[in-house]
Amino acid sequence: MIAVLGAGIAGVTAAHFLKAAGEEVLLVDRSEVPASGGSGAAGAFVSPKIGKGGPLQELTNEAFAFAKDFYREVTPHAFHADGVLRIPKNPDDEEKFESYEAYNYRPYERWDAKKAQAAGLHNVPGGFFFPEAGDGDAREICRVLAAELPRRQMNVERLEREGGHWILHGADDRIEAEHLVLATGYESDLLDLRYLGIRGLWGSRGDYSTSRQFPISLHKDFSLSSSRERRVKLGATHVKHPHPCLACDGRPLKALEAKAAEITDTSDFRLLETFCGMRSTSRDHFPVVGPVIDVPRMLEESPAIVRGAKVPLIHHEGLFLLNGLGGRGFVFAPLMARMLAEHITKGAALDKRIHPDRLFWKWVRRVGRTGDKDSK
Ligand SMILES: Cc1cc2nc3c(=O)[nH]c(=O)nc-3n(C[C@H](O)[C@H](O)[C@H](O)COP(=O)(O)OP(=O)(O)OC[C@H]3O[C@@H](n4cnc5c(N)ncnc54)[C@H](O)[C@@H]3O)c2cc1C
Repeated sequence: MIAVLGAGIAGVTAAHFLKAAGEEVLLVDRSEVPASGGSGAAGAFVSPKIGKGGPLQELTNEAFAFAKDFYREVTPHAFHADGVLRIPKNPDDEEKFESYEAYNYRPYERWDAKKAQAAGLHNVPGGFFFPEAGDGDAREICRVLAAELPRRQMNVERLEREGGHWILHGADDRIEAEHLVLATGYESDLLDLRYLGIRGLWGSRGDYSTSRQFPISLHKDFSLSSSRERRVKLGATHVKHPHPCLACDGRPLKALEAKAAEITDTSDFRLLETFCGMRSTSRDHFPVVGPVIDVPRMLEESPAIVRGAKVPLIHHEGLFLLNGLGGRGFVFAPLMARMLAEHITKGAALDKRIHPDRLFWKWVRRVGRTGDKDSK
């Protein structure tokens, strides 16, 4: 049996593809309902990445191509491909837009200021419109995917390897599994995962009632969704902090509301519900998907690695990770989950861009330079 720890978008998609490959899967989370972590707060915008090319943009856009089809097929009622208009974040960004165009995901349309104005936007110089992009209902997507899976509610306090199995220890309960997939988001303290440099960034989202029609979604340095049933979502992740949502006092939303008002008429927006959550990013901002290095054992058996000695990597047996999805968890998760499932069930080689091993050697040498206390 494969236990998947974490019922956010990473965990539910990993469990979905493992089950589709014929594995017996158990989805474990401390919460009774899926998407209780960062996933539940997400606006779940699913759109391509714009920029001057490069491996992260390429990977994001491969993931986007896969994700939009995945949601259309698996959770069609909870994904709305109304199109997303990408607007320059600031005058600097506006200057660069020209150079982004050659690297754009296709299909897209180039909008000018006139077209933006006709769509009810002001102070918008134009942008790129991606008609296949859209937004999802984050909780509903996770609920539907989790509903097809056996589940267990447990706050896992400790992990242990015993008799060829992983033991997940709760306060007064335990689960035994041959394989374990960790999909715990920004919480990464069950094992020594310092080499991945996982850190949290929290953000907020407000859902508002409005009588205005927003036929498409907008993305600037915040996102505003198309309207459905007289409701829109406004959100962004923006605050670097190790702890989630210190105070949902509405302040972050006030700033977002002001930004939205700069580009469109938000005068009748009334706040209905606030969501806060933490997303997690790896050291190099790429997802981390695959086997996990046994850091304590490597440091103990080969202490010279901190001075540059090269030895074979030792991985925890039967342990895998799906994390570091950043601000694009709903874009990345389906493709990353499928890649992980193919690796676990068919031994398929993992894409180097997402393999967690890439982060180890640089980190371990830094430990050598800065001392064992080095964390992230
Ligand atoms: C405000 C906001 C807006 C966002 N907007 C978008 C967006 O528009 N588009 C997009 O693609 N992404 C967006 N994101 C990012 C996206 O939400 C994240 O990338 C994604 O949710 C990460 O999913 P995850 O499954 O890795 O983590 P999480 O959703 O945090 O799930 C981790 C799960 O693990 C469980 N868990 C952890 N430790 C334990 C334990 N010890 N025992 C039991 N259970 C445990 C938690 O309960 C939780 O359910 C946004 C994020 C935020 C916060």
